[in-house]
Amino acid sequence: MATHAQSVDQELIEAAAHVARTRCRGDNHTMAAAARAADGRIVTAVNAYHFTGGPCAELVLIGAAAGQGVYELDTIVAVGDRERGVVPPCGRCRQVLLDYFPALKVIVGAGDRLRAVPVAELLPESYVWADHQLDAE
Ligand SMILES: [Zn+2]
Repeated sequence: MATHAQSVDQELIEAAAHVARTRCRGDNHTMAAAARAADGRIVTAVNAYHFTGGPCAELVLIGAAAGQGVYELDTIVAVGDRERGVVPPCGRCRQVLLDYFPALKVIVGAGDRLRAVPVAELLPESYVWADHQLDAE
């Protein structure tokens, strides 16, 4: 079985891991995300936990990216605090990421099983919001 670890964006994983180590605090910020923009830039963010449904790091990252003028993401990864390593996106984030960035790649797995997979593969038989709007053709 071939490993895909060489082909994943290690710089991106390290960027998320660095933010997880240095910026996550207490119970409010426990996850970090990093995304590679289409222009090569790296955008990072942390989650903003709240019992009412505070956003995951991936969702905060979408807003943070837009705030920097970045609207196209190529690859995203999330890393947990306390050295938890790469954490796959939750169901809500998979849906949001698919709707915002249909061609996005998501880094999942651990160790020599780290790999970048298309977001659509993380959401089989997916609901595509844009297909169900009244003006959709
Ligand atoms: Zn999530």
